[in-house]
Amino acid sequence: AIRFEQVVKRYGDNTVLDHLNFTVRKGDRVTLIGPSGSGKTTILRLVMTLEDSTDGYILVDGNPLTHLQRDGKRVVIKDRERAQMRKRIGMVFQQFNLFPNMTVLENIIEAPVHVLGRSKAEAIKRAHELLEQVGLPDKANAHPTSLSGGQQQRVAIARCLAMDPEIMLLDEVTSALDPEVVGEVLGILRNIAETTDVTMLIVTHEMQFARDVSNRVLMFDKGRIVEEGAPSDIFDNPQEQRTKDFLSAVA
Ligand code: ATP
Repeated sequence: AIRFEQVVKRYGDNTVLDHLNFTVRKGDRVTLIGPSGSGKTTILRLVMTLEDSTDGYILVDGNPLTHLQRDGKRVVIKDRERAQMRKRIGMVFQQFNLFPNMTVLENIIEAPVHVLGRSKAEAIKRAHELLEQVGLPDKANAHPTSLSGGQQQRVAIARCLAMDPEIMLLDEVTSALDPEVVGEVLGILRNIAETTDVTMLIVTHEMQFARDVSNRVLMFDKGRIVEEGAPSDIFDNPQEQRTKDFLSAVA
């Protein structure tokens, strides 16, 4: 489970997350929606420990990403502990973020070999299975730059799965794609959601995908949760005006 307790994130005077509380249980598929700048991506970056919160606590399976000292000071936990936690979390980014100087296969085996200490042979075998799963069985030796955006994103999904993550963070994974390839990427993610019990925290503007995949939707505005519920509640019967306005703007 991921738990946010009174989490605050500020950049200078800009309060991006304002005493935020929520819990994502194991196996949950939670979609974060809301206007641009409402703090959704920041939440994923905090869970991935790419950023530190300004205040409050984030716990992953009960382990805080920060420690409270006896004098009440918050201390960011050591890199080693943090790396341990990060192993169990995979993130897929809007801009793919593949290593451009490595082949597709090298991209996928890098972390399993260097972070999990798997044998190269084992990692390669798994990489081929994953390339099959994402529909790119013949691209192992290609370089990312020779692939289309949709293909690069499928490699990024395979690279994420190669770590057998318990939690997948999906940050606007279709926003940089041509409309005609969005469906294939979402189809792969839908398949992962249906065939595994990986916890998913999803930021997306694809409301149909949110409806298909998630069991809970959190609507954000100005760093706070405005409304939350099952996709059918939020999409078919929103209660808050801000949710109604947002949904009619993205429809
Ligand atoms: P979008 O849908 O546009 O991606 P979002 O809800 O994901 O929006 P965030 O990306 O979390 O929003 O950003 C929230 C706010 O934090 C924005 O006002 C943004 O300008 C600010 N912000 C994000 N990263 C930084 C940073 N590194 N330094 C300063 N401000 C930042």
